[in-house]
Amino acid sequence: MGSVSQPQRRAVLTGGLVATAAVITGCSTKTDNGSAPNASPVAAASASSSAGAPPETPSAALARLLEGNERWVNGTLQRPNQSVDRRKAVAAEQDPYSVIVSCIDSRVDPELSFDTGIGDLFAIRTGGQVVAPVVTGSIEYGPLTSGTPLIVVLGHQSCGAVKASYKALKERKPLPGNLQSIAEAVRPAYDAVSKAKHADPVDAMIRVHAQQTAADLRANPALAPLVKKGSLAVVSAYYSLDTGRVEVIDGTPAA
Ligand SMILES: [Zn+2]
Repeated sequence: MGSVSQPQRRAVLTGGLVATAAVITGCSTKTDNGSAPNASPVAAASASSSAGAPPETPSAALARLLEGNERWVNGTLQRPNQSVDRRKAVAAEQDPYSVIVSCIDSRVDPELSFDTGIGDLFAIRTGGQVVAPVVTGSIEYGPLTSGTPLIVVLGHQSCGAVKASYKALKERKPLPGNLQSIAEAVRPAYDAVSKAKHADPVDAMIRVHAQQTAADLRANPALAPLVKKGSLAVVSAYYSLDTGRVEVIDGTPAA
């Protein structure tokens, strides 16, 4: 699967980002070792092992992430790509296979939650994983410069940022400092949730906010053509603090 779609990932190295893209193109781990992206996660991996070639398609990338999350849930971490060799290999060039947009919450760590290593993920973290233009630029970086095939917008249980925003918007009491900009960013989710009765409106808002953010990214003029072509998927997901499990909300790629 990897060798077929490699040109596709490289084909997006165009436009003003070429200079920076040159820094991150290719991947020294990409010299095939024959391991399939969907290989059993439990098989044959020891600590600091290599995870094999990075997945090339959105669905293979999502499968790789969810396999890693399963190991996190079950306490069977493989800690792939955390060796000194891997560090040296990606020092020259990187080729992460997913962009994770998640919260600053200290309990939600993308590299741990998906059992990944160095060079595997572009991780973007803001309070309540809200997105603004500079953040969107960081999200676009992988897909536009090296054909990263997957973006995951990861909301999480008991998100303090969403909870505080819900309260501020409901009571019309602005949050202090720049925190209010987070509340404003999640206002569309608040408005959507406010239209119906929810047993747990904050949890509903967390999920809706992740879905809305993913939908906005899919419609983003720079990313939409890649989504349409099928070379990029944007998935919304929810992380349980209790179990560690990542549940896909919507956007699962067909292929
Ligand atoms: Zn949070």
